[in-house]
Amino acid sequence: MSDKVVTVNGAAVPAGDTLKDVVRGRTIVAGRIDDRPVDLTAPLKGGEIIETIDSSSLDGLDIIRHSCAHVMAEAVILLFPDARPTIGPSTEDGFYYDFDRAIPFSTEDLERIEQKMAELIAADAPFIRKEMGRQEAMAYFQEKGEPYKVEILSDIVEGTVSLYEQGSFVDLCRGPHVPSTGYIKAFKLLSVAGAYWRGNERNKMLQRIYGTAFSSEKALHDHLTFLEEAKKRDHRRLGRELELFMISDDIGPGLVVYLPKGGILRSILEEFEKKLHLKNGYQIVYGPSLLRGKLWEISGHMDNYKEYMYFTELDNQLYGIKPMNCLAHIQIYKSRVRSYRDLPLRFFELGTVTRHEKSGVLHGLMRVRQFTQDDAHIFCRPDQIIDEITSIIELVQRAMAIFGFEYQIEVSTRPEKSIGSDEDWNMATQALIDSLDKKGLPYEINAGDGAFYGPKIDVKIKDAIGRMWQCATIQCDFSLPARFDIHYIGSDGSKHSPAMLHRVVFGSMERFMGVLIEHYAGAFPVWLAPVQAVVMNITDAQADYAASIAGRLTDAGVRVELDKRNEKIGFKIREARLSLVPYMLIMGEKEKGQGIVTVRDRSGQQNTATVDEFIAMVQNATPQI
Ligand SMILES: [Zn+2]
Ligand SMILES: [Zn+2]
Repeated sequence: MSDKVVTVNGAAVPAGDTLKDVVRGRTIVAGRIDDRPVDLTAPLKGGEIIETIDSSSLDGLDIIRHSCAHVMAEAVILLFPDARPTIGPSTEDGFYYDFDRAIPFSTEDLERIEQKMAELIAADAPFIRKEMGRQEAMAYFQEKGEPYKVEILSDIVEGTVSLYEQGSFVDLCRGPHVPSTGYIKAFKLLSVAGAYWRGNERNKMLQRIYGTAFSSEKALHDHLTFLEEAKKRDHRRLGRELELFMISDDIGPGLVVYLPKGGILRSILEEFEKKLHLKNGYQIVYGPSLLRGKLWEISGHMDNYKEYMYFTELDNQLYGIKPMNCLAHIQIYKSRVRSYRDLPLRFFELGTVTRHEKSGVLHGLMRVRQFTQDDAHIFCRPDQIIDEITSIIELVQRAMAIFGFEYQIEVSTRPEKSIGSDEDWNMATQALIDSLDKKGLPYEINAGDGAFYGPKIDVKIKDAIGRMWQCATIQCDFSLPARFDIHYIGSDGSKHSPAMLHRVVFGSMERFMGVLIEHYAGAFPVWLAPVQAVVMNITDAQADYAASIAGRLTDAGVRVELDKRNEKIGFKIREARLSLVPYMLIMGEKEKGQGIVTVRDRSGQQNTATVDEFIAMVQNATPQI
């Protein structure tokens, strides 16, 4: 034993030759030496500060999943020698590996791959790290007929790269990995999908196999149950079944069409928003979709946001289709001289914006190419910033309470690609933080994730099954007011620069609707339900009575559908239940005779009520803003 000493998890211990010599237990999958994640085979010099990475920690899971991707790739190559491996990273809750293969993998193929993986894991093959020069590695993969690895290597700077070998498979990888395949305790392959090489639609379409791995069978089982639940709530399927929206290839990817039921849901949300904002001192405005290229140059979008924008030419002039609503609001501010007494000014717009998202990231309503923001810009004096941010936070809290969402807050700071002085960034970031502190709200710092023109507060809401979704943001910006040279006349009679706050509450109407569909699993609360009640008669004898009740309800603003088809009442109830409508109003001879209705709710509970009582019940279900 040498006399070298290292610190492991805060305790000094005698060191061996490698990390493996100083850690104990099969749940330790890797380590961190002086903050650098490393394999357990990493050599020790003595004096290192070491932390161990346990299999159930987030970092540990990441290493297990990533190692599992290597094992999957080995299994795939053994079973399908024509498949060429590309890349296989871990993701937030699993991993994938992309293969270049002419024939797509089938569900049966996945089962065979899983079986082969189980064999490879049972063999407990060690992960062996090798280092070589970049040129040598390129020659190695060239020789093996793996052009994708060669391409990756050709993009990186000269130097040493690491290769990992387990069993018959060698991959170019930074590591670390678990010591041997036997450390992978529970895994499952989930699905296959097409994916473009490097996410670029001009590149070749590859076959992506998704899987996940956990530190125990129990944790894997819980996750698979969660995935089942998420699948049941998938807004893309529910959107189709409940006839809310469509996204069609004829129109184009990422472009949403609202069907009548989705249209009414959106208009309910928009009415809610308009009332909420008018009550809170906002003014409703609208800007055009096209604005001159010159404005996008002044704003900095040409330099910092061009790849997300669409442009067109009118009368030989360049126009940009707005990806944000800010610029028209700045022009509204500029439309007259503003005095310090006029501020704050709060302009609200349900503004439709268009952004060029890559086709690979588009996802139902959650990620689209054209969406409507509940956007507002607040122009205020520097001494009003904290109060304004605080009242935006209160507005967000009020809105989220109505939907019953819990939320988490993050503060995103200056990104690499950005405009404005350090001084302004610091002032803006501090204002956001001070406002949160003033409200006593906890938050996390998200370094480098701000907008290019200012730092922001992100509010992430938690849905019914615990998933987090980005919704509200509040951004503090001193750059755009300076770039557009806007000002107000202060009490001293001279010109001053206002601060500009950009903020959304729901974020995108599309995404918020997607979240609502999944949160409620399509069973919307009464006030949001596109159809609040289906009115149905038991026999033809009550058809006119049912029609007259439906008419009265419609007049009172209740959203109803009349089902007077000559079908059995049990059949009508079943259909209405499948459409997840909150109420069914059933009309038989008794109801007709007494001029009442039988109200059946989604849980199957039945009561009788007068029509006025039912109207009051529906109206009372609408939240007061
Ligand atoms: Zn790896
Ligand atoms: Zn803005």
